[in-house]
Amino acid sequence: AADTAMYQAKKLGRNGYHFYAPEMTQFALDRVLLERLLHEAVVNHGLKLNYQIKMSVGSVIRPCGAEALARWSSAQLGVVAPTKFIPVAEETGIIVDLGEWVLRTACHQLMAWRTMGAQVPSISVNVSVRQLERPDFVAVVQSALAESGLPADGLELEITESVIMRVGNAIAVLQALHNMGVRLSVDDFGTGYSSLAYLKLLPIQTLKIDRSFVAGIGENAGDESIIQAVIGLAKNLGLTTVAEGVETPAQIAFLRQAGAGELQGFFYGEPLNADGFLAHWRHAQAQADAQSAVPDHLS
Ligand code: C2E
Ligand code: MG
Ligand code: MG
Ligand code: MG
Repeated sequence: AADTAMYQAKKLGRNGYHFYAPEMTQFALDRVLLERLLHEAVVNHGLKLNYQIKMSVGSVIRPCGAEALARWSSAQLGVVAPTKFIPVAEETGIIVDLGEWVLRTACHQLMAWRTMGAQVPSISVNVSVRQLERPDFVAVVQSALAESGLPADGLELEITESVIMRVGNAIAVLQALHNMGVRLSVDDFGTGYSSLAYLKLLPIQTLKIDRSFVAGIGENAGDESIIQAVIGLAKNLGLTTVAEGVETPAQIAFLRQAGAGELQGFFYGEPLNADGFLAHWRHAQAQADAQSAVPDHLS
């Protein structure tokens, strides 16, 4: 609607402004409302976190961690997807407080699960460019760990390629986090910046292969080649790989054959709330234990 209005405004010149204004006002109002409600949600702890299970590939595929994903259900707007509100949060700067809340909540949640007897090895948290740019980011991470009591090796930060390229002192910040013992992964790998040279400069442990490539398994030879190449590259650099968006047994077979280190996707579980995740984790663990107990020739 905004594009059409813009076109009308151009076509009609100054007089077109009268057509242009009302629609643009509605557009701007929607955006202002979204920003206001999002800000309120962050301040009033109106957001929630869901957690998606991650599996490690060995002779048996077993659970190895969780990724925290922000969720927003607004009384006025209903459920708003992260792909809609995260960019708004980034543009407005709301992401700084939102991201800090996610970080603290995720660290506390992992400790809570461990207290309840579930030895979840690590929790992954997405980090935005605006957070990484902040001079106090390392201190915020340190305080989230200290307050929750979570050892640094229980936390993984997921950072996209574009973020790494956009932050001037990103390497220094990542190095400081790495020195603390926090693990770092490159999210949505393959969709962003094309230069691979920076990979050897970064203190990262993991590449997350974007789900757009996984979706092409069995359908697109190019996607399959890219996956194999990324896994090969990662192995040569001493990094592990996580394949995102795993939905089918055929994808799992391919990824296993290709040597992917970890798998994440709806096949193993959709993002769940904290209680749902704990139950799912226990079930997945019991299943993996039962499988490792079966001698190979019987499984
Ligand atoms: P992401 O970090 O790459 O997270 C993975 C996204 O893929 C999640 O979408 C997840 O629900 C979805 N997904 C997982 N498995 C499958 C699958 O098998 N099939 C399909 N089709 N999708 C799958 P979600 O939760 O909508 O989040 C979208 C993006 O929003 C995230 O992508 C991340 O970039 C961003 N995001 C979410 N929470 C946060 C947050 O707390 N902070 C920041 N900075 N970004 C966040
Ligand atoms: Mg992620
Ligand atoms: Mg991702
Ligand atoms: Mg993604």
